[in-house]
Amino acid sequence: MSHTDTQLDAPPVVIIGGGPTGMTLANLLGFAGIPVLLAERNASTSDLPRAVSFDDESLRTFQSCGLEDAAYELIVQGTGTKYFGANGRELAYQRGPVQPPLGHPVKNPFSQPEFERMLRAGLDRFPHVATHFSTELIGLRVEDDRTARVTLRDAQGELREVVANVVVGCDGGRSFVREQLDIRMIGASLADPWLVVDTLEDDHNERYAMHHCDPHRPFVIVPGRGGRCRYEFRLLPDENPRDFTALESISRLLAPFRTITPEQLERCTVYTFHALIAERWQQGPVMLAGDAAHMMPPFAGQGLNSGIRDAGNLAWKIALVSEGHADARLLSSYEPERRPHAEATVALSVRLGTVMMSRSPTFARVRDTLVRAGLHLPAVHRYVTEGRFKPTARYRTGAVLPGTDADGLVGSPLAQPLVLLADGAQRRLDDVLGTGFSLLRVDAPPSSPPLRLDRHPWPTLDPSVINVLLGDLAPRDHPASGETTVADIDGSLTQRLGPYRGRVLLVRPDHFVAAVLPEDLASCTDAVAGALAIVARSPAPAPPVLTSEGPSSD
Ligand SMILES: Cc1cc2nc3c(=O)[nH]c(=O)nc-3n(C[C@H](O)[C@H](O)[C@H](O)COP(=O)(O)OP(=O)(O)OC[C@H]3O[C@@H](n4cnc5c(N)ncnc54)[C@H](O)[C@@H]3O)c2cc1C
Repeated sequence: MSHTDTQLDAPPVVIIGGGPTGMTLANLLGFAGIPVLLAERNASTSDLPRAVSFDDESLRTFQSCGLEDAAYELIVQGTGTKYFGANGRELAYQRGPVQPPLGHPVKNPFSQPEFERMLRAGLDRFPHVATHFSTELIGLRVEDDRTARVTLRDAQGELREVVANVVVGCDGGRSFVREQLDIRMIGASLADPWLVVDTLEDDHNERYAMHHCDPHRPFVIVPGRGGRCRYEFRLLPDENPRDFTALESISRLLAPFRTITPEQLERCTVYTFHALIAERWQQGPVMLAGDAAHMMPPFAGQGLNSGIRDAGNLAWKIALVSEGHADARLLSSYEPERRPHAEATVALSVRLGTVMMSRSPTFARVRDTLVRAGLHLPAVHRYVTEGRFKPTARYRTGAVLPGTDADGLVGSPLAQPLVLLADGAQRRLDDVLGTGFSLLRVDAPPSSPPLRLDRHPWPTLDPSVINVLLGDLAPRDHPASGETTVADIDGSLTQRLGPYRGRVLLVRPDHFVAAVLPEDLASCTDAVAGALAIVARSPAPAPPVLTSEGPSSD
């Protein structure tokens, strides 16, 4: 195997697959300083026309590993989706919430090949991330709960064995890792194939995707950046997918919208979509993530976004375990946390496909009548237009302490509004919290002493401490305390955190709230250490005390 890449000193985390999930995870781990070996079978990143939209959660993940600016350069920010009924008239406009709660726009068209190249470039920032393209996983053996042995083969046919404490299979829908672990996919594949066409120099300038729910031929148009435009057409039962590789048949489908030359046809392929979930996502030190763990039809635009969620959930856990700060139980929280959300997202994607992309004219007529009537009700209107049907994650089990919170913040992502700092600057909350754990003291009285962080597990978690002032108050820092003070700017923190006044939120590096704690942290240290599987270290030997007789170690 050629070793043009940096050699790794420590046993690396092995990531199989250099698609969006694998490279996002490698970027997150690289950012955290963890040695990684990433193996990708192909010689370069993929050129297939697949995902066309990021959500706010993905952008927040890129923000946490220094890729935010690069990601924003690829997207059309903050678009929506218009659904058109069977008669071609607008049925509903999903525009997203006016104030996106996570600090990023909710729907953002992009081109997956460009995005993959950006992630690949992001990995070059880290000397401790060895990225091997043209390198295929051909063997995997789980030796025990903490060790797996992988066999990699490079383009010259050279073999290399790597022993790893953590292996993550991000190797897509046909995952070899999954196959080696004898894990089945459960679910179904959808019947009709879809033709997916990416075009250039397109005149569509709408800042929304168009889902045409025409039962005679459902189709989707997604205008992208710089004249790019995605078209997706449901093929009919009497149409042969093979006929749609020729420019002539593609031109026929595109004819109502544009003419096309071979140079303007960026990519084109026929897909059959799947709604599948792996029956297990972990076996000892090996985990599945992204399409290897779950596959869904694209109608909710969530397949790639779900893989990025997996990466965000796994990265900090792998980092703590790799550094010896947490035991392997922490990794076991990955599947219980992520699976329910992935299942709900697969179910939504199937529902949207079945209902909005139906080929039954009668069903489509009834659907349109019900949707139009329902939209007169304010609650339904908000539900549809703000996209509230998208499942939100709420971890009830895993690396969280749900019993510490009656109001439902634990296990949910913390919002990311702008906050006011003592120097008058406004910053986004995540940028103040930093990339590790944080403790948010909610409206603690100004006379409160600094939080005591000397007992296990706090020195290991090393949280940043942020005092959050609710109401219209000016923040003042007390440098001696090492704590930062921020104030709510637009009332959103007061609204969300009001019930938690006088308490402390423990926020994980992935910005999910792990626990609501009392100001006296001593009473809950064991529970926090247990939930996060933080390893207790034997206390360091006391430094010698200098006495008149000389040093003593008493
Ligand atoms: C038409 C279409 C539209 C879509 N639209 C959206 C959308 O708008 N939004 C969205 O979120 N998602 C969308 N998706 C889904 C999205 O594209 C996928 O969910 C995403 O690409 C999955 O990423 P991944 O990294 O998990 O897997 P993949 O992208 O499949 O990457 C897996 C990688 O593993 C490599 N690999 C496989 N086996 C091995 C091996 N043995 N050794 C080494 N490497 C290996 C492969 O070469 C590949 O590069 C869409 C999909 C399609 C088809």
